[in-house]
Amino acid sequence: MELFDSHTHLNDEPFRGKEEFYLERAENLGVTRAAVAGQDPDFNERAIDLSERFDNLYAIVGYCPDVAKDFDQAAKDKLIEQLQLDKTVALGEIGLDYYWDESPRDIQRKVFAEQLEIAHELKMPVNIHTRDAFEDTYKILKDSKVGEYGGILHNFNGDPEWMKKFLDLGMMMSFSGVVSFTKATDVHASAKVVPWDRILIETDAPYLTPKPYRGKQNETGYVHYVAQAIADLREVTIDEVATHTYENAMKIYGIK
Ligand SMILES: [Zn+2]
Repeated sequence: MELFDSHTHLNDEPFRGKEEFYLERAENLGVTRAAVAGQDPDFNERAIDLSERFDNLYAIVGYCPDVAKDFDQAAKDKLIEQLQLDKTVALGEIGLDYYWDESPRDIQRKVFAEQLEIAHELKMPVNIHTRDAFEDTYKILKDSKVGEYGGILHNFNGDPEWMKKFLDLGMMMSFSGVVSFTKATDVHASAKVVPWDRILIETDAPYLTPKPYRGKQNETGYVHYVAQAIADLREVTIDEVATHTYENAMKIYGIK
């Protein structure tokens, strides 16, 4: 069995200098590849650094809603350069966050749309963060023809009705540890019916730790438990979840 963590933050504080240790633990749980998600200049740089140091790590770079207000021309030029590196596989995480509201909403929307335009030009898939903002996220993705270059809704926490709308745009749904939480009934319902060719799994480590480690720090290896939770919901083996999610990750990220 091989598992692919489609969105992790091995570039975050708790893992610095201990990447080998966490990658070894991941491998023991069957996790053989991971995409390290950036979000701001520092995290983007660190994601790229890890992708250059480790064969089985890939970089995702972008300006998340928190730092949308800093996305000027110089930032844009630098990002375009970073997106063309061999092991950069997606633009992200980008999107809208109306929960934290760290950047004004009109700027979040503008910078989100601008980065989608870059993705369109470079034919790169996008990794989307959305919080309390399904309506506007959907509208902007629809207008930006996301189906032509591919999009992933990271940590998808919506109900099947919202999921269908995003699936109809041609997108992939990435499930996190939330799918293992007893009370996350909307997410359970979505994970049960998402088509096999549209499903991904992720940790978003160090956040969103799945059961049985909920409450502790998350790590890339624990995507194993996300896969297990989905297998239980769909009444299939973990190997079946592994096969589909691994294939889908390789395909959307364009890895040979
Ligand atoms: Zn993340």
